[in-house]
Amino acid sequence: MTAMLKIIEEIYGKEVADIIKYIMEKKEVSIDELVKKFDLEPAEIRKILYALENLNIIKRRRIKNGLYLHYDFKWSVNTSMLEKIQRKIAVQHLQELKRKVQELPDIIYECPICGVKVPFEEAFEYGFRCPECGEMLVQKENEEKRRLIEKIKRLEEELGIRS
Ligand SMILES: [Zn+2]
Repeated sequence: MTAMLKIIEEIYGKEVADIIKYIMEKKEVSIDELVKKFDLEPAEIRKILYALENLNIIKRRRIKNGLYLHYDFKWSVNTSMLEKIQRKIAVQHLQELKRKVQELPDIIYECPICGVKVPFEEAFEYGFRCPECGEMLVQKENEEKRRLIEKIKRLEEELGIRS
């Protein structure tokens, strides 16, 4: 959920993310509680709540406030919606990783002395010698690519996606 709040903060700002976090902690809050906590005008709080309600991130429950036919609302976070959004973000992240893994070469050339790693084209340019120390470069499997492929597999399993 922390990752989720970071994304919300990036898109909607820190204030909105803090409000969602507070509602999650309290489970259910009234506008009065939010006004007290956040030093904002009730109108501003309402504007944020309605916007979040439109996004399905939060929902409201009508409660009687004691007076005849007078109602108030309690607000809570729509957890299932948050999970859906979180999944969407995870799937997007997975797609980015897949794009990245395609760009990585299978084989790289590494210097056994200083550890410099270069793709084939660069190694060829340098005459297969280390650009730092001049040692002969050694052809190796690209471990970064292998690790990334493993990470993608794990993520796909977690998300229940079959590749
Ligand atoms: Zn070297």
